[in-house]
Amino acid sequence: MPIDAVPAGKRFFIHTFGCQMNESDSSRMAEALLRDGWAAAEAPDAADLIVLNTCAIREKAEAKVMSALGRYRLVRAQRGARLGVAGCVAQAEKARLLERVPYLDFVLGPDQISELPRLARATGAREARTDFVGSEEYVFPRADPRGVGAQVSAFVTVMKGCDNVCSFCIVPHTRGREVSRPVPEVESEVARLVAAGVREVTLIGQNVNSYAGGCTFAELVRRVAKVPGLQRIRFTTSHPQDLSPELMRAFAEVPLLMPHFHLPVQSGSSAVLERMRRRYTCDDYRAKIGSLRALVPDLALTSDIIVGFPGETDQDFAATMALVEELRFDNLYSFIYSPRPHTSAMRHLGEWGEVAREVAVRRLERLQARQREISLEKNRAFVGRTVELLVEGPSRTDAAKRMGRTRWNQVVNFEGLAPAGALAQVRVDAASVVALSGVERSHELPPVGVEPSHPSGRRLRVL
Ligand code: SF4
Repeated sequence: MPIDAVPAGKRFFIHTFGCQMNESDSSRMAEALLRDGWAAAEAPDAADLIVLNTCAIREKAEAKVMSALGRYRLVRAQRGARLGVAGCVAQAEKARLLERVPYLDFVLGPDQISELPRLARATGAREARTDFVGSEEYVFPRADPRGVGAQVSAFVTVMKGCDNVCSFCIVPHTRGREVSRPVPEVESEVARLVAAGVREVTLIGQNVNSYAGGCTFAELVRRVAKVPGLQRIRFTTSHPQDLSPELMRAFAEVPLLMPHFHLPVQSGSSAVLERMRRRYTCDDYRAKIGSLRALVPDLALTSDIIVGFPGETDQDFAATMALVEELRFDNLYSFIYSPRPHTSAMRHLGEWGEVAREVAVRRLERLQARQREISLEKNRAFVGRTVELLVEGPSRTDAAKRMGRTRWNQVVNFEGLAPAGALAQVRVDAASVVALSGVERSHELPPVGVEPSHPSGRRLRVL
């Protein structure tokens, strides 16, 4: 395929769907294109290259990709823009996508990001690059610190893929087997990001608990916590089966590890969990949460729940509601089961029994309504308290305010002057289901350059 140099002034637009892994991959794609001479476009209709970085986790997510492609078809026709699909839909569909979408120029799997600059410049034949790269040869794309701009918080990929085969999940098919990133690579990426102004990192992977890049995941957290200048660590996502006592202790012993844990339970019925192939029972999950809360009493806990999984009875759903009542999650991401190709749940749909759509919708509404009440009660308990925030910048909902996150990952919109990167003390005076609001009392300016994260090294400003 002929390859042209990137003509001056050519711009790209990346439309990202789905999870943090995709957000992180989109950043790596953007950095690769910038290095190759492209500039970023503000909007798709000003772009000469449009890449959709896609999610295949639910049918609805896939439908959104198809409808976006329909819109971008026009830009391609009017501007001669190149159009590509990357991410999980690309991986699941491979070259078939070129047949389904005749105006698509290329298809790029998640392991093939390094091929993007070549595919972006290529002219001529349409191409699909979707090979998985084995654990021996896989090289994790490195974050370019120039790409973080004014960001205070950044994702750092520590592993990819998943060796579990939960019966509802397409991820093993789209992201392949687990590959862990070597410890020194993770440490040096965090150090480079901190030197560029990042104060918080979220270590990401499909199942970070099974990290095996030279030490356990708990040990990796401890090693990352030693990077000078770093102030906060978070991670996502985790499988309850692989949650070790060592990682639980890290929450209590590593001051930089924030007291917020996302641990997907998926259902409150052990019978459903068995069909989901989750390899734990509700009692196992309860016991792990009990141990965690004994170590870290103020831990914020969030989770994922699927309702309407094949064969879910009223009793199964009642057990899910009871678990939500008992564990009182701070927040829940809940969805109706979506049959995905290449999964065993889809193959067993007839045998296990499909839950009628209207039943699943009713269950989801009940679950979400109750969770909203719990989240609101939990947020209201913060009213009157003064909490520490890592300030991220202007509020997205009120231009006159600033925005930061608590240690428990709540968004707080506040009146104050604290710059991005500062740690602010904010008195909370109101709470909603999704956010808190308040007034700044004081802030500590971010360290200058790379300084130790010890509080004694910070400069204090009292309002
Ligand atoms: S642990 Fe299960 S749900 Fe999570 S990515 Fe792996 S297969 Fe999917």
